Amino acid sequence: MSAGLNSAQNEGVRYLDGPCLVLAGAGSGKTRVITQKIAHLIVDKGFEPRHIAAVTFTNKAAAEMRERVAKLLEGQTLSTPGKEGRKVPVNQLTVCTFHSLGVQILRKEAEHLGLKPQFSIMDSDDCFAMVQEQLATTDKPLIRRVQNTISLWKNALVLPEQALANAQNEDEHVAAMVYRNYVATLHAYQAVDFDDLIRLPAELFEANEAVRDRWQNKLRYLLIDEYQDTNSCQYSLLKLLAGPRAAFTAVGDDDQAIYGWRGATLENLKQLQIDFPKLHVIKLEQNYRSTVRILTAANNVIAKNPKLFEKKLWSDHGMGDSITVTPANDEEHEAESVVFRLSAHKFERRAQFRDYAILYRGNFQARIFEQVLRRERIPYVLSGGTSFFDRAEIKDICAYLRLIANHDDDPALIRAITTPKRGIGNVTLEALGSFAGQAKVSLFEAVYMGGLEARLSDRQIEPMRAFCDFIQRLAARAETDPATTVLDDMMEGIHYEAYLYDAFDERQAQNKWSNVLEFLDWLKKKGTRPEAAGVDAAVEGERGDGDAATGFDTSDGLADTGKNLLGLIQTVALMSMLEGRDEDPDAVRLSTVHASKGLEYPHVFLVGCEEGIMPHRGGSDDDEPIDDARIEEERRLMYVAITRAQRSLQLTYCKKRKRARETIVCEPSRFIQEMLLDEAPPPSADEAPMTPKDRLANLKALLGG
Ligand code: ATP
Ligand code: MG
Repeated sequence: MSAGLNSAQNEGVRYLDGPCLVLAGAGSGKTRVITQKIAHLIVDKGFEPRHIAAVTFTNKAAAEMRERVAKLLEGQTLSTPGKEGRKVPVNQLTVCTFHSLGVQILRKEAEHLGLKPQFSIMDSDDCFAMVQEQLATTDKPLIRRVQNTISLWKNALVLPEQALANAQNEDEHVAAMVYRNYVATLHAYQAVDFDDLIRLPAELFEANEAVRDRWQNKLRYLLIDEYQDTNSCQYSLLKLLAGPRAAFTAVGDDDQAIYGWRGATLENLKQLQIDFPKLHVIKLEQNYRSTVRILTAANNVIAKNPKLFEKKLWSDHGMGDSITVTPANDEEHEAESVVFRLSAHKFERRAQFRDYAILYRGNFQARIFEQVLRRERIPYVLSGGTSFFDRAEIKDICAYLRLIANHDDDPALIRAITTPKRGIGNVTLEALGSFAGQAKVSLFEAVYMGGLEARLSDRQIEPMRAFCDFIQRLAARAETDPATTVLDDMMEGIHYEAYLYDAFDERQAQNKWSNVLEFLDWLKKKGTRPEAAGVDAAVEGERGDGDAATGFDTSDGLADTGKNLLGLIQTVALMSMLEGRDEDPDAVRLSTVHASKGLEYPHVFLVGCEEGIMPHRGGSDDDEPIDDARIEEERRLMYVAITRAQRSLQLTYCKKRKRARETIVCEPSRFIQEMLLDEAPPPSADEAPMTPKDRLANLKALLGG
């Protein structure tokens, strides 16, 4: 199982004597080492799929990895003693994101944390609202700052009590108080936030040896992609999962670390060598992805950063097309010219839409491209944004789903019970809220509690009880019936389409309803696929016969349609938080650079290459220079962007751009300069120094013109 590997890759695949780190530049086949190693473990080494877990960061990357592994294992058989010759049950593998691994651990171990297995996962809007309520302010930047601080604390495994004790000033004290109440509120809702998905399993493993042993025994080989982006919480989780056996392979590239702002730390790369002195480090040097021009551009940019580890990268794909840099008058012009050139390029090359990606630094840049693509009837998919799941109509439906799974989810109840309106007004809900608060129960529970009559009339209580009865009926059905029928019943019961036509004008209603239908379709499809079934399978497998216990039809890799709604709901929450959906029609991909990590596209347009955008200015003032640490992270981001391209790379920047009703003049990004100016070797004594004309010739050669 090692066809199509060079010798260093082969070494990475076959090394099983201890912990292993593959440290190498972009496109050098790190992810390929992971997928091939999974196949090697199963086909040659007797591992069962349920004992192997591979984790990465985005849904899209996980989906791609899953696909690559499935292809490799097609037609292969197990080599496990006693099971030789059996077809490999690919769907028992765990190939997923960190967060979805976390969800699966939490679902199994919820009781140890005082959680129901159907806990809700709050999205960032819910969390924002909770912090806002605690702070009792409308100052959005302040709320966001506190939200961020809480997130950093969580990721550094700092508990509220510690945060309170360590508070140095009034601001930190306030943030720590909010943190404490925030944690308590989440718990009351039987909910977790995004950070908890990693933090809680790590804390649980730390505290509970029996649980930890069980999981260490379940997941006997770990593979970690994009290791450079792990934060300390994720690192702890990995270390605890790996345990003393330390059977893992991590792959990464320090030059692609782009999540510093989320608390990821390159220290983890060094820490790995300290914590695992036997760590075997392998370097890869051949880039199989890009042309020489693209790789040279990438190398030029990253050369400006201080180096942690020495790496070389070469390609034998030939020079390839020249890299173009095109200015545009403003963002509209930019979008039009990119879409125009993309169409022409596609026609010339007889390429497909899916061969193209338009990459940008920030989500806000996407809208204008969406507009122009739509106008030109060019199919596109958006990733990296949460725009689909952020739509009000989708959130409405999700609120129902969350509430069905978890009746204690107060924010979901408030949203669902008032959309569509059911004659339940704000005054009623406020009275219910204060009653529930005093009784220390959820809103749902409060609806049925004696004593409520003293506060509200029957006419007020009745519709609330009818609503909660309806939810309970659906919840009961969801435990036994397939997701699809429960969904159909739910939609029939809430008259959502009629509500849309009531509340919005016809065009809007039509649009919203078609989004809802698309979402339901997508849900139903998800419900029939064994998405990330691996851990469940592994857990069940411990108790009974591995293959039979999963409940999945392993012959064609498709799950039994009975996959229930409750699991599906948590999957949805993850999808909405982790860079969108993972399907792959023939469409141009619009993506943030962050979300494109690990992926590759034949042709890339990198747009908005301007000072202030790429590099992004962050919080600093227009007049202040951007600080060095930020520039270094932005430069790594630029490196990631460039190295997504396989055959062609086209950059654009705007000369002017609208910002908050003002039009500002933009400077081309410093990275353009860095990328195109090949570092000329210092002239030796017997060589004449390079003239500006030579430099220009060099540059032209590099650009291919
Ligand atoms: P990134 O740092 O961007 O995540 P990576 O190091 O993970 O990149 P891969 O995505 O594994 O790189 O590989 C890049 C491309 O090169 C893929 O298309 C892969 O199939 C191809 N590739 C990798 N190794 C080989 C090889 N030995 N022979 C041929 N093609 C290869
Ligand atoms: Mg990769």
